[in-house]
Amino acid sequence: MISNKTIWLIIFSGLIIISGVFWWNIDRLNQGQDVIWNKNLKTEEKVVVKTELEIKEKRPLRFMFFGDVMLDRNVANVLEKKNMEELLAGLSSKDDYFKKSDIISANLEGAVTNEGKHYAPVNLYDFAFPVERLTGLEQRGFNYFTLANNHFLDQGERGVKESRENLAKENFYFSGAPDAKIDDFSRIDVKIEDKKVALIGLSMVYNHFSREKAIALLSQTKNEVDLIIVNIHWGNEYEHLFNRYQQEVGHYLIEEGADIIIGHHPHVVQGMEIYQGKPIFYSLGNFIFDQYFSIPTQTGLALYLEIDEEELIFKFFPFSSKQSAPTFKEDKIEIENFLNDFISWSEIDQEYSTMLKSGVLEVKR
Ligand SMILES: [Zn+2]
Repeated sequence: MISNKTIWLIIFSGLIIISGVFWWNIDRLNQGQDVIWNKNLKTEEKVVVKTELEIKEKRPLRFMFFGDVMLDRNVANVLEKKNMEELLAGLSSKDDYFKKSDIISANLEGAVTNEGKHYAPVNLYDFAFPVERLTGLEQRGFNYFTLANNHFLDQGERGVKESRENLAKENFYFSGAPDAKIDDFSRIDVKIEDKKVALIGLSMVYNHFSREKAIALLSQTKNEVDLIIVNIHWGNEYEHLFNRYQQEVGHYLIEEGADIIIGHHPHVVQGMEIYQGKPIFYSLGNFIFDQYFSIPTQTGLALYLEIDEEELIFKFFPFSSKQSAPTFKEDKIEIENFLNDFISWSEIDQEYSTMLKSGVLEVKR
């Protein structure tokens, strides 16, 4: 016969075991952080980045893509008079899209140094800014930056290292090595729901990266993830038409496994192409910049993307900027004109052109 005391002892021990298991799992669930990219770094230089987004329900993945963001020079002056929230007030008409996106991305043109310091040697165009300047973007939902561009190295290797540390500290996702380089930092994987998405950053402004390395990177990545998004910095400045070299590179990246290519650097919007069923947006133009000398340098394109097993649905949100402050175009005629221009810069067939005129593009997977 078991005494009451023994029964209580069994129940009590059971409870302790159950709660132990529960806490152990909670602890595991909280480990949404991963140490990666430590292959070539010393232990104390490990960059810790968040790699998992928690999403409860099953639904399409949602993204927003923007072009170049430069927060130094005249933009820094503008930001002394108004904060980032005020600077981005013209984006509020698309608040719902910002809120529901899993990843909101842009190209960060410059180094994110400690206190925004500039280090020698000083270049003619020399960009650096403190991570605090990104807070307003973070509040808008921006969570990924591609760093692969011609200004990432403006503050030397020290700037590169500090940029990664500062962005990691603020829990941003980021990828990309300096211009023409491909290394372990060129790719970051983000888990969204049950899907793994690779965000790759590449740059070929002053020099071209090794085609062999790019192919190796993509062929390895495609075996490990569900979706590959390549952000690439390329093309001729101030030209709406993409060049044959961009096209050649875009094509082989897709042949090797890229699902979507998002381009920037020309400072103006360039057209698009759908190659083997995969879209290449050659340039989204400036997002936040200080090139006030023309309308094209103050016109940009934001892309909203919903993606599920069957299709990719893009929504086109063109915007105009004034003193670095972007405002989404709302006027029907203005949007129509922009989309017609965009189509004329693109190489797409009739079916897609017709669809694009409505500002929505559906691409079957
Ligand atoms: Zn650039």
